[in-house]
Amino acid sequence: MKLLVTGGAGFIGSAVIRLAVARGHEVVNVDALTYAACLENVGRVADAPGYCFEHADICDAPRIRDVFERHRPDAVLHLAAESHVDRSIDGPSAFIRTNVDGTGTLLEAARAYWESRGRPSDFRFHHVSTDEVYGSLGPDGRFTEATPYAPRSPYSASKAASDHLVRAWHETYGLPVLVTNCSNNYGPYQFPEKLIPVVILNAIAERPIPVYGTGENVRDWLFVEDHAEALLLVLQRGEVGRTYNIGGDAEARNIDLVRMICAILDAQQPRAKGSYSDLVSFVTDRPGHDLRYAIDATRIRDELGWQPALGLEEGLVRTVEWYLANKPWWRGLQSREGVGERLGQGR
Ligand code: NAD
Repeated sequence: MKLLVTGGAGFIGSAVIRLAVARGHEVVNVDALTYAACLENVGRVADAPGYCFEHADICDAPRIRDVFERHRPDAVLHLAAESHVDRSIDGPSAFIRTNVDGTGTLLEAARAYWESRGRPSDFRFHHVSTDEVYGSLGPDGRFTEATPYAPRSPYSASKAASDHLVRAWHETYGLPVLVTNCSNNYGPYQFPEKLIPVVILNAIAERPIPVYGTGENVRDWLFVEDHAEALLLVLQRGEVGRTYNIGGDAEARNIDLVRMICAILDAQQPRAKGSYSDLVSFVTDRPGHDLRYAIDATRIRDELGWQPALGLEEGLVRTVEWYLANKPWWRGLQSREGVGERLGQGR
């Protein structure tokens, strides 16, 4: 297939592209190269036959229409987004622009292209979204595809809006769409402002490891390469118009996750004295911090046969090893605006 992947210079998009190219697909990577992008993430495939990069903003309608006309993709995998909840608290407008307006613009460009080709039934527009659209859980229960939307942060509200747009383009215009809602990802090439890289990088720099509130918030963690596998599977075998939840079946309280990472670091690169967990520092909580997310991934498992290959412990070991072995990658990103600062306190 020829895939048009948006956001392919980011964390998850680049993992999807590395996998898709390895599987023999052609890929057009469309990315605006925001602060969160890094073309090195796709450096391994940059010279692969059938791969090409288009530096373009999904909000730029003429540019995106031109990309469709020149490349004539068989499918779109839409990952481009503003993705950091803390930044959405400080500056929601960028999230509304890219995640809502940008998704609308991309849908319109995809529709015009699809209609100009005679509405092929095997075209796909696959929208990649988050479990955060479902809101916050109490101690029990898990999100299913039937859980009502209840987003609570500017980030999750903008993603919820984009999910609704995608479904509306299916119902109204017949565009063959797929939607996936995934839990928290982690693994190689994650931008150094997200929780797991922050823990690893602060620990090895002997800086305090910030934990929001009391660290009781629970997230369900999925290794990014497992997510990439799931996305290609849904794209090829998912039922048009259907939503699939994707999760790692690996819930952990933030404080327990941080302690797991510290223990792995203690084994891989011991401190001169004590444990890295001695660096844990509880800081003011995020406003509106969702207590718990948990995914019920029964549908994708039963209907498409997907399940994660890596458990949390194994995935974290691989991730810590990767950050220790790839210092030039993350050092180059640490000077970008806002990285290493406390963001999203709502002031
Ligand atoms: P990321 O921030 O690492 O990458 C986003 C990419 O999108 C960047 O390369 C950026 O340059 C690009 N981009 C941003 N605005 C753009 C625009 N206007 N036009 C073109 N490109 C633009 O994000 P990620 O963590 O890889 O997440 C990718 C997608 O997966 C997002 O849609 C996100 O909502 C979703 N998702 C993420 C997670 C997670 O845990 N990271 C979980 C579930 C779903």
